[in-house]
Formats: sequence, C-alpha cells, structure tokens
Amino acid sequence: MVNDKDLLSFDYKKDFPLLAANDVAYLDNSATTQKPACVIEAERDFYLKHNANPLRGLYDLAMQATDIYEDARVAVQKFINAKSEQEIIFTRNTTESLNLVAYSYGLANLKPGDEIVTTIMEHHSNMLPWRMVAQQTGAVVKYIECAVDGSISDEAIDAAVTEKTKIVAMAEVSNVLGRLNPIAKAISAAHKVGAVAVIDAAQSAPHMAIDVQKMDADFLAFSGHKMLGPMGIGVLYGKKALLEAMPPFLSGGEMISFVSRDGQEYAPLPHKFEAGTVNAAGAAGLHAAIEYINSIGFEVIEAREAALTKLAFDAMQNIPGVHIIGGKTAEEHKGILTFTVEGVHPHDIAAILDADGVNIRAGNHCAQPLLDHLCTGATARASLAFYNSAADVERFINSLSTIRERMG
Ligand code: PLP
Repeated sequence: MVNDKDLLSFDYKKDFPLLAANDVAYLDNSATTQKPACVIEAERDFYLKHNANPLRGLYDLAMQATDIYEDARVAVQKFINAKSEQEIIFTRNTTESLNLVAYSYGLANLKPGDEIVTTIMEHHSNMLPWRMVAQQTGAVVKYIECAVDGSISDEAIDAAVTEKTKIVAMAEVSNVLGRLNPIAKAISAAHKVGAVAVIDAAQSAPHMAIDVQKMDADFLAFSGHKMLGPMGIGVLYGKKALLEAMPPFLSGGEMISFVSRDGQEYAPLPHKFEAGTVNAAGAAGLHAAIEYINSIGFEVIEAREAALTKLAFDAMQNIPGVHIIGGKTAEEHKGILTFTVEGVHPHDIAAILDADGVNIRAGNHCAQPLLDHLCTGATARASLAFYNSAADVERFINSLSTIRERMG
C-alpha cells in the first residue's frame, strides 16, 4: 500500500539529469517525458559497447546487438502481458504503429460501405490514418461524440457500432481531457459484430498497468518517448493470428526470409513488420525505461500522479477566469489539465509561464476536431508525471494566478 503521508516526499528528479540540472517545473509530459539516467546510459552503452547491425551478422558483436534488441521485445511483452513476443512489433512511435494497422489491416480488409468507428477526441494520429484508408477503400469513418465533460456513454458506443463496423479505434486516455475512456465497452461492442478493436495507449502506457490479454484488444499502440524511453522507438501490439494474416506494411531488407528474382517469402513475426535496420539502441533505452518504471511500480506512479493532479485541479478551481476543459473532478483527469484563461491567448499563457520556469503546451494538441466539438478554440495544457513535485504544482499555480494581471 502507498502511504499518503510519504507519497510526495520522495525526490525522483535526482534520477533525471535534465531535471536535476535545470530549475524548471516541466509540465509537458503528455508531449514527451524526461529521461532517467538509466535510459540515457542504456542507449549510450549500446553504441559504446555493442554496436553492430542486429539480426544480420553472425559475429559476436552483431549477436550481442541482436540479443539486446530481442531482450527489449520480451520486456515489452511482459510489460503489457502479451501472450508471445511475436506479437510485439517495434515501430518509431504511436503514429507509425497506427498507420501500420491502417495500411496493412485496413487496406486489406475494408470494402466500400464498411464502417470505421472512432471518437471525436482522438489525436490526429488515430484519426487521419483511418480517413486515408476510408478514402482508398470506400469505407466510412464514423465519430462517437463525447459530452461536454468529455465522457463517452455506452449508448453512444452501441449506437455507433453496427453490423457494418469493421474497425473500432479509441484512445484509452485522451491527450486533451486526460479522461479514461470506456475501452472495455468499445472492445466488447467491436467483438460482438466481428470488428477489430484498435487501442491508442500513447497516454495510458506511461501511467497505468496494461494487460492486453485481459483487455482483449486486437491492436494496441504506444510510444517509448512518452514513457521515459527514447524518441524514435514505439510499439505495436497485435494478436498473432491477425498479424500473421496481414500483408507487410513496408518492405525491403530484414523482413524477408527468402528472395528470388521473381518472388519472396516474408520473415515470420515479428520481423515481417520491421523492414530495414532497426532502432536497437532505442529498444535498449525502452527496455531500461520499463525496468525503471517496474522498480517504482504503477501503484506508486498512479497514486503520486493522482495526488499531484488533485493539488493542481483544486488550486486552479480557485483562480478567477481559469476554466478546466472536461471532467469536473480531479479523478477524471489522469494527470492532464487542459484549460483556458479568460481574455488570454494560450500562447501568451505558455510564454508567461515559461518566463516563470514552468513548461506547458499551448495550441490544438493535435486534436482539433475535439476542440471544435467543445467550442474551446486553442487551449493550454499542463500534464504531470510521477516525478513532478508539489513544488512544481505550486510554481505553476503561483504563475497562473498572476497571468490576467500581467496581461493588463
Ligand atoms: N495518440 C495520442 C493519444 C497522443 O497523445 C499522441 C502524442 O501526443 C499520439 C497518439 C502520437 O504520438 P507520437 O507523436 O509519439 O507518434
């Protein structure tokens, strides 16, 4: 059990060289997290001691590189409780993972009149690939709308998913609202009509335990860089039977077992989907990030993030002119607080906060249809990670409290 009294007392920032060396309240964790020393060290160690092209050479160094890369895959498999490491495909990021499903599964399985159901709150990365595939196949994209508080009802899911539905794509946590979506309902609704469920876990994988077998997701995507890992390494989980039946996304080296003048045989999973030289150093960094997360545990991570979110949420409620988008309780915001300040453009909010050493994001957060749906226009977003401190929140609140005054 996590002891409430000690919850925020531990200093995790000492593990993060950038945070230890810079006096900033970094509250842009949904965009990318900072990296602990062990992650930076793992990438460096790969290039210093083990660098060779993995999966090709038969000499010792190349086999070391291969082992490091494949060990990282097993770490990811365990992290999300996948049945087999063959179900873990390394990509560059969530965006590439979702495009892989759209191009490979979508183009091969959709026909005119089929429906792809997604939500209005999706990140553009879980929206535009489906539009592309719909345009190319004659399928139709349907959006489930959320209420003003960001909630998606079971009724809305039942109304959207029909016998024509072939794909249901939903974020587990919205990058704007921070709300946990009803993915269990979406997955079961998809399966009832024989559709596949694609879960965008970019904003959930860093903050809560994921069990793909329990969840029964068909595909699930996330990015290493949003969960303390390096940029340039991402994950696509897919059920083995689905992945085996899918054509490759990219083709070329590494993803074949045999090529003749006129034909080829693709490599078995997972390599069929990993064309070209892979990001082995990135995989090593992601492996280190997973080990670091495991050493802290999601119980502590979730409890700290909930406590920090509540501190920030409650204080923001008391600042005149500040309006939080979405849920009306701190519990409905998984570390993400998107807001407006009356009469102040979000870019000005971000610039003033920056002058006070507080880093937040301002703009459309790659989710323009959601902001249009909620009629908010551009917004500002503070997003927390477990390594943030109560002092970071205090600094943010102190600065936010002065913004309207400073804008005249
Ligand atoms: N999906 C969600 C919910 C996100 O928040 C993001 C990034 O912010 C993405 C997808 C895209 O992630 P990446 O840029 O790492 O591909």
